[in-house]
Amino acid sequence: MSGPLLVINAGSSSLKFETFDVADGTPRRVLRGQIERLASAAPHFVAHDAGGVITDRVLGAGEDPEAMLLAWLGEHGGGAPCAVGHRVVHGGVRHTGPALVDDALLTELDALSPLAPLHQPHNLEPIRRLRAQAPDLPQVACFDTSFHRGHPEVADRFALPEALFAQGVRRYGFHGLSYAWIAARFAEMAPSLAAGRVIAAHLGSGCSACAMIGGRSVDSTMGFTALEGLVMGTRPGQLDAGVVLYLMQQGMDAAAIEHLLYHESGLKGLSGISGDVRDLLADGGARARLALDVFVYRAAGAFATLAAAMGGVDAVIFTAGIGENSPDIRAAIAARCAWLGFSLDAARNAAHGPLISATGSKVAGYVIPTDEEATIARETLSVLAAR
Ligand code: ADP
Repeated sequence: MSGPLLVINAGSSSLKFETFDVADGTPRRVLRGQIERLASAAPHFVAHDAGGVITDRVLGAGEDPEAMLLAWLGEHGGGAPCAVGHRVVHGGVRHTGPALVDDALLTELDALSPLAPLHQPHNLEPIRRLRAQAPDLPQVACFDTSFHRGHPEVADRFALPEALFAQGVRRYGFHGLSYAWIAARFAEMAPSLAAGRVIAAHLGSGCSACAMIGGRSVDSTMGFTALEGLVMGTRPGQLDAGVVLYLMQQGMDAAAIEHLLYHESGLKGLSGISGDVRDLLADGGARARLALDVFVYRAAGAFATLAAAMGGVDAVIFTAGIGENSPDIRAAIAARCAWLGFSLDAARNAAHGPLISATGSKVAGYVIPTDEEATIARETLSVLAAR
């Protein structure tokens, strides 16, 4: 294959990209960058290779971001890409792995947009624009839901009438590209533990935890949408459906409730200060402490639920912004899980591991940096190889 593999993770306000050298069949990261403030009149493009910033400029009025990126890659990024792998948050029930993009797939994925309104449309936009610009460029959709498609049915059912399940009202699970990476890394680092019962906690701006047996997901705290489960930066996680009914009866419409639940809740809503754990730790006041206490309480409760799903737990792995960087939050969650036989070693935890559990802890604890883009690169290559 000639040319780099391009990986795109597109959101509402930014398009992040990375390139991988895949000449020898194993993806090797070359550079990364992003186009920020996409919705503004002057989106900002920046790219870094291992040596530092290589381009930093503002896009011209009306300049198409994908066309600009292809042209830039041709000139400065190792040539025209051989293929593009995209993060797509929702693959529905059918996609148990990555899929080559064609018109039928795009139509199918479009139909899932109401289930992930803040992510799916933005994930699909660059795919569509690249198809128009470079129709022969292979594009692969890599889904956050695929990793969870092996759940037992009991884990994915809401206790609602069957007709709703048939419509797709069920638990899907997200953050699968992160968990796939963690499962693969853990199998390399600690194969006998990875063969057992593992809880992986992706604690970033979005937060979830996943129960894995032998590296396969058997349950996840995320549900029908990415609102479910753990307390997040600005999302509430687990919420009595009656609260939503109450808000509607008080006159809030769907758009206002959506804004409240996606942008004003979680750590931000609880603290009234910020959805960022760093700000709350620095603040240290009563409301910041309460927000962090609720975050920790709910995470520990979720670990117990996931341990029950597996009949016990052999290892816990922390990942993503909070999970990788905050010894305080890891220690607070572990303290609430002491009854499971989980105890941390303070020095190992302060050093961010990778092993953070105390010698003799019944449950092993690890910190493993996640790498969703590397998962996308691997998955994209696997689809190209199977063509
Ligand atoms: P995303 O889900 O957007 O990829 P990240 O995984 O980068 O987000 O996580 C972002 C969050 O990680 C921030 O909002 C912040 O709360 C948290 N975080 C990052 N660094 C630290 C740190 N050193 N200590 C505590 N929390 C941190």
